[in-house]
Amino acid sequence: MENFERIKSFIETVLDRPTFEKWISPLAFITKYDKIILVGSKDVKKLSWIKQNILENINKKIKKEFGLTLKLISLNEDDSDFTFLETDTHKKKLASSFNSNLQDKYTFESFVQLDQNRMAYSFSHSVSEFPGKSYNPLYIYSDVGLGKTHLMVAIGNRILENNKNLQVLYLTTNDLMKEYVEYTRLNKVSEFTKKYTSVDVLLIDDIQYITRWGGTREQFYYIFNKFIQEEKQIVICSDKHPDNIPDLEHRIKSRFEWGGLVDILHYDLEGRIAILKKKIEERKKFFKNDFIIPEEVIYFLASSIKDNIRKLEGALNRLIGYANLKFSDSRKNTITLPFAKDALKPFITLSKKPVTIKGIQEFVAKKYEIKVSDLISKSNKHDIAFPRQVAMYISKKVTNIPLHEIGSKFGGKHHSTVLHSIKKIEKEIESDYELSKDINSLIELFK
Ligand code: ADP
Ligand code: MG
Repeated sequence: MENFERIKSFIETVLDRPTFEKWISPLAFITKYDKIILVGSKDVKKLSWIKQNILENINKKIKKEFGLTLKLISLNEDDSDFTFLETDTHKKKLASSFNSNLQDKYTFESFVQLDQNRMAYSFSHSVSEFPGKSYNPLYIYSDVGLGKTHLMVAIGNRILENNKNLQVLYLTTNDLMKEYVEYTRLNKVSEFTKKYTSVDVLLIDDIQYITRWGGTREQFYYIFNKFIQEEKQIVICSDKHPDNIPDLEHRIKSRFEWGGLVDILHYDLEGRIAILKKKIEERKKFFKNDFIIPEEVIYFLASSIKDNIRKLEGALNRLIGYANLKFSDSRKNTITLPFAKDALKPFITLSKKPVTIKGIQEFVAKKYEIKVSDLISKSNKHDIAFPRQVAMYISKKVTNIPLHEIGSKFGGKHHSTVLHSIKKIEKEIESDYELSKDINSLIELFK
């Protein structure tokens, strides 16, 4: 693997010196993802100048030399989204030679096993060793950013490691749909079906979007059934339990439960720290002279960003990006806590708001796909009353707000109604293991 300094000096040889000094030298080299080198600056104008004038040329050259491409990102406060990293690699077209679409970095080795993902990990591992024979289909679900895609891709990578001749294909439900539309347009539906039924292992991400498919779902069912019949492995990820995906055919749902159905829960502080340390350790393989990130900074990051590991990694990248901008020589630099707090201020203040009932309501509403206004409405429909009870229960658990005040925040409910709701959820938790896991995982987020 190449390190940044080499790439930089190479770029210097491509450009004239003043251009290099003015435009490239001040950029922060942040990280490497697959074949992409992420480079950032706070100066959007500068980035856009580089993009318009020299980036294409530089990329041609470093692609040839290192097989890598530079990607510019803004390090501005309001531009905190690193999710494009994913979409970029996923967008790789299905080339004529077989392309699995698997990102190398997602392996079992780079995945941290924790209580919250223990089952998901062990089922995935088993599937990767015995494709088609242990759990088929394997269905992994969780809230976003908790490692589903990572595990699924790890399965694919391991299967290929064990058997290079197998055709393993990863794609998102949206990709599959787009392909289908394209094949339909060309009047080649049978080729579409043939293409997908002929692979050996199919990894389909974000199946929750299948609801948008309309009629094309039939194709998926067909492919799915074929895989099961032929004992070929199929792995599916989703941000929802199958029962919570409307429009999914009942037969398929029961088939999911028949195979392996596993979830990943929100990680606790300790878990987030472990994952963050792993990420830092992995960076060290690529950046020999990386920054020193002390325990207290790791703790600060992990205790500030709770709900999503992708965001946590985004914060780490951002922190290192700032450090690169600030320190010209990264060799002996330690990222101190005050530096980290300053660099991540916009990030952290967003996620470190004190817990309010409104915050809980927003989260619960999102989780159960209803509106906050439903939670404070008078409706007693189960789909609304139940999330409301959950939200009241969590409010009681994680705040010190008295019952009558909780009641008033839920549209003026009497404190006895609040108490009744809490008791009801307490009771259900005792007998419903799934629910208790879910709710405890939510409580963990607000602690
Ligand atoms: P999801 O598909 O559930 O939205 P991803 O698999 O994309 O989440 O994970 C988001 C990021 O968090 C990835 O970079 C992934 O490597 C990382 N991640 C999540 N859980 C773990 C874990 N247990 N160990 C290592 N990395 C993890
Ligand atoms: Mg995913």
